Amino acid sequence: MTEKLSDSVFDENYAEIVKNIAAAAEKSGRNPEDIILLAATKTVSADRINYAISKGVNYIGENRVQELLSKDDDVNPSAHRHFIGHLQTNKVKDIIGRVEMIESVDSVHLAEKIGAEAVKRGITMDVLLEINIGAEQSKSGFTPEGIYEALDEIMKIEGIKVRGIMSIPPVCTDKTVQREFFTKLNDIFIDISREKLDNSNRLYLSMGMSSDYDLAIECGANLVRIGTGLFGDRNYKK
Ligand SMILES: *Cc1c(COP(=O)(O)O)cnc(C)c1O
Repeated sequence: MTEKLSDSVFDENYAEIVKNIAAAAEKSGRNPEDIILLAATKTVSADRINYAISKGVNYIGENRVQELLSKDDDVNPSAHRHFIGHLQTNKVKDIIGRVEMIESVDSVHLAEKIGAEAVKRGITMDVLLEINIGAEQSKSGFTPEGIYEALDEIMKIEGIKVRGIMSIPPVCTDKTVQREFFTKLNDIFIDISREKLDNSNRLYLSMGMSSDYDLAIECGANLVRIGTGLFGDRNYKK
């Protein structure tokens, strides 16, 4: 019974978000199909994740290695898996090969570890570089100024391919300030896409969560990471 109830909640949330994503894409002159909706699945059970996948969600992201490992075997293998949380270098080996992209590369050192582990396994790991756009103490990531030099170093590392950037801007209620953060990120993204990255493959600007994904898309995001907005409050108990 509970399961059914939560399913219908998901259905409504999902339909609403898909609609809003399309509207925001059109507002910024883009095709809604060019925007990836990634479900942030922390605290969500494998059953509910599989339900979401059955309804059309095809990108999922975990932000903790332990949680990812505990659920991954039970989650439909068809979904694209991203890692979106802070990654300790000693855990790199646990997720390489399990995820298709690591969105949260926040140091050259981590990039080196990922590259080394990927080379060991004969693969290339796709990554995004995380930018700490608000220069917040509590968050990791490269500064907007430091990203260019870091990128130059990371691009020399074997086994790793930089496919774009990711960011979690400061929480703020002022839309103007929020828009400034997103716009600045988009500027950096366009800059490095043109000047530095290999753009023969699709590149990603991952920004926007439940409370601000529409604005993020208007400002250029092509990947949004949504948790609460899809699955409801994280304290939710099945
Ligand atoms: C949890 C999480 C999200 C989604 O946050 P919501 O506010 O629940 O949509 C997005 N990105 C990262 C890195 C997260 O850890």
